[in-house]
This record gives sequence, C-alpha cells and structure tokens, in this order.
Amino acid sequence: MTATIIDGKAIGLALRHKIADQVRQIVSDGHRAPGLAVVLVGQDPASTVYVRNKTAATQQAGMVGFEHYLAADTTEQALLALIDQLNQNPAVDGILVQLPLPNHINPQHVVDAIDPAKDVDGFHPVNIGALSLQRPDGFVPCTPQGCMILLRHHHGHDLAGRHAVVLGRSAIVGKPMAQLLLAADCTVTIAHSRSQNLPDLCRQADILVAAVGRPEMVRGDWMKAGATMIDVGINR
Ligand code: NAP
Repeated sequence: MTATIIDGKAIGLALRHKIADQVRQIVSDGHRAPGLAVVLVGQDPASTVYVRNKTAATQQAGMVGFEHYLAADTTEQALLALIDQLNQNPAVDGILVQLPLPNHINPQHVVDAIDPAKDVDGFHPVNIGALSLQRPDGFVPCTPQGCMILLRHHHGHDLAGRHAVVLGRSAIVGKPMAQLLLAADCTVTIAHSRSQNLPDLCRQADILVAAVGRPEMVRGDWMKAGATMIDVGINR
C-alpha cells in the first residue's frame, strides 16, 4: 500500500503568508497591528522553544509580540495580576499562557482569568462552550484547528458522513478535535486509555487522528486502505 504524505509545512507556510497579507490590510486601513502576548513561567526547554517560535511567527506576520518570561517560583497571585494587566491592555488582542505551569500554580485559575475575548488558545470554558454549541464567535484550540485545515486541504471541504476516530480525549486536543469533526458532519468515535479493541476501532476509520503522546502506537495494519491519518504527537 503506498501512502500520500500531507505536506503540513507547505500548508502552514501558505497560511502564514495569508495571515501576513491580512495584517498588512488591517494596517493599511489605518488600524494598529494586532498584538499577541505570550507568557512563560519557568524555563522548561521545550516550552521556551514553543514560546520563542510563537513570538517569531507573530512578528513575521507583522503583528506585535509581547513576551513575558517569569521565574519558576512566580506566585499564582503575581501571574493572575499580570493576566489582569494584559486583559486591560488595549494593545493586546490575544494572550497565550504556555502550559504546563509549575505545580504550585493551578492552571484552571489561570485559564479562567483570561478574558475569553483574548483567549486565542480557546481553553476558557466560554470558548469551549462556544465550540460545543457550534457557535462561530469563540476561539478554537489551534492544534485541532490545524488538523481540520490539513484534512480539508487533502479531502476538500466535504467531510460529511466520514467516520473519524480520535485517539485521545484531552481538553486541548482530543475533545476539541472531536467537536470540530462532528461540526463537519463526520461520524465521530473518541477512544482513550480505557477503550477496548483499539486496532478494530481504528480499522473502521476513514479519518484517524492520534493524540495520545505515545510514538508509533498506531500500526500500519490498524488502518484501512485509503484512510487519512494525522498524528499530532510531538516526540523526540
Ligand atoms: P494528554 O493530555 O496526555 O492526553 C493523552 C490522551 O491519550 C488521553 O486522553 C489518554 O487517555 C489517551 N491515551 C493514552 N494512552 C493511550 C492508549 N494506550 N490508548 C488509547 N488512548 C491513550 O496529551 P495531549 O495534550 O492531548 O497531547 C497528545 C499528544 O499531542 C502529545 O504527544 C503532545 O505532545 C502532542 N501535542 C501536539 C500539539 C501540536 O501542536 N502538534 C499540541 C498539543 C499536544 P485517558 O484520557 O484515558 O488518560
């Protein structure tokens, strides 16, 4: 069986160019460039790379990046005070607080404190609610949103009736992925660590999205011919 590889890098680059064009248009219409604030607590090496990449992409698209690097022992109160400040700052349109946070900070308190209108990660309960109600006015988490862009690029816009199997049910990938596929009229199965007969479930999929954090879990013979697979896992 031969496979067609979806070229995510090329699709991502085209999207970045499109966003840069939109930002240029906003500025030439006489408005200020949008601003994105990123907040990192601590020095986790992977998180540091992600945050730097987010700011670099923001600036390459012509937007204004605000970086806040806080010490690992920053208190929850100090972080919430910074978020309040960013919520009030009219030059900041979006706020990304890099997860995971150090253990002494409750991530739920932090996510809840971000103004839903600036929660571009789409993690606030208001935005999660908007997604599950299929309302167009919320922010959608970026990883599942990116998967939908790749799927539509590959399949065209009509995904209706296809059987999508999502491996993983996390709040940031699995669940919103399933919601987006459901909104696209797919028949959706969500599998997780307690699911049984995973190989058989996967073999039923026209679209298979793996978000389990375990490399090479899905084997070649778990896929039916012609199925599309996206593995969102980041593994070194
Ligand atoms: P997570 O919170 O650890 O969730 C993993 C999910 O996989 C859970 O729902 C878990 O089930 C399920 N699972 C674990 N072992 C399983 C097994 N043997 N069989 C079936 N299901 C199993 O991870 P996450 O945040 O969703 O991230 C998943 C992966 O995506 C990671 O590799 C992460 O690095 C990557 N990621 C990529 C991006 C990106 O932009 N590309 C963004 C975020 C995350 P239970 O719920 O039962 O525990």
